[in-house]
Amino acid sequence: VVIGSVRETAPGERRVALTPETCKKLVAAGATVRIERGLGLAAHQPDSAYVDAGAELVDTADAVLAQADIVACVQPPPAAAIASIKSGAVLVGMLQPQADAARGEAIQARGLVAFPLERLPRTTRAQAMDILSSQAGMAGYKAVLIAAQLAPKFFPMLTTAAGTIRPSKVLIIGAGVAGLQAVATAKRLGAQVEGFDVRPETREQIESLGGKFLDLGVSAAGEGGYARQLTDEERALQQQRLADHLKGVDVIVSTAAVPGRPAPKIISAAMATGMKPGSVIVDLAAETGGNCELTRPGETIDHGGVTIAGPLNLASSGAMHASDMFARNVFNFVSLLLDKQGALHFDWNDELLAKTVWPERAAS
Ligand code: NAD
Repeated sequence: VVIGSVRETAPGERRVALTPETCKKLVAAGATVRIERGLGLAAHQPDSAYVDAGAELVDTADAVLAQADIVACVQPPPAAAIASIKSGAVLVGMLQPQADAARGEAIQARGLVAFPLERLPRTTRAQAMDILSSQAGMAGYKAVLIAAQLAPKFFPMLTTAAGTIRPSKVLIIGAGVAGLQAVATAKRLGAQVEGFDVRPETREQIESLGGKFLDLGVSAAGEGGYARQLTDEERALQQQRLADHLKGVDVIVSTAAVPGRPAPKIISAAMATGMKPGSVIVDLAAETGGNCELTRPGETIDHGGVTIAGPLNLASSGAMHASDMFARNVFNFVSLLLDKQGALHFDWNDELLAKTVWPERAAS
């Protein structure tokens, strides 16, 4: 089987879906790996490292795509590139086929067996392939570093000859994978950290990382380990209690999301306005519209002395480790598609394949 990968073309995307490490493992499993020259440069992986790992370098993306039985990517390739993929081949990565009609049509027109990894069921077995989790960890970490950088205060408490500095109060909204990494990171920087979520099990998770659980009296656990949307009454209660609390907070890192929906609006314009001058909001949910009403995706604004940042694709800013994890996720998934001889086979009785493939297959 031939596995190929080409340079990412999405603006700002630095990650790769195949690293020298996973390349070596694929070659050991009997696969041929062909990559576009320069594949890993943005993630600081030189061509020579891939060659050492047993990959073949190819001059053009089209030549890779035309010959590969499995194409691995981070971001979805543009429709034109999808049209260059060998018909019937496997495409694996963060494909979001429903987000763009032309992309979805191109995938179907080529008869590709597409595995958008963001569709993986969130089971224990799938954890090793879970790109959402691995990339969210990097995003949560970077979000706190951005907040620390934008803040006009120290995060830690300092006792100095120039007097004592009180630690910053950092609130993490949403304690999923990104939020918990944010709690841990802010804690390591010495801040006083609080977190809250609508899933009650997050209390223990936040506390185990040294954070304090902020109880707003709203609990809304949904299906599959995710949150559900709040009712109007629940939302009003959350808002009212939060508004008071935010007056004493220096930094907010917000990560709240509900699958398949725009980000819940949790920080109203009035709440942001009511924060102390010098406060900072880093809104990780900017990608899906933001948790703060004032967030402008991709921008950092000053709102009367409160800085509001809406960074996009933060995982890409940690491209080396984010790629290491992404590529291992891809490798672990691709391993399900290879038999002992290294040939392609599909076990549609395996729910990880059956639930991830797009378009959905009728049960046989
Ligand atoms: P996510 O990115 O969809 O959401 C981030 C967080 O926002 C979630 O914790 C959610 O509860 C919270 N949230 C939603 N609405 C909110 C609101 N109005 N106010 C406050 N918080 C709100 O979630 P995620 O990080 O991808 O995953 C969430 C959970 O799913 C994980 O913590 C874990 O328990 C589970 N999970 C399981 C697996 C697995 O077993 N393979 C993998 C990943 C995640």
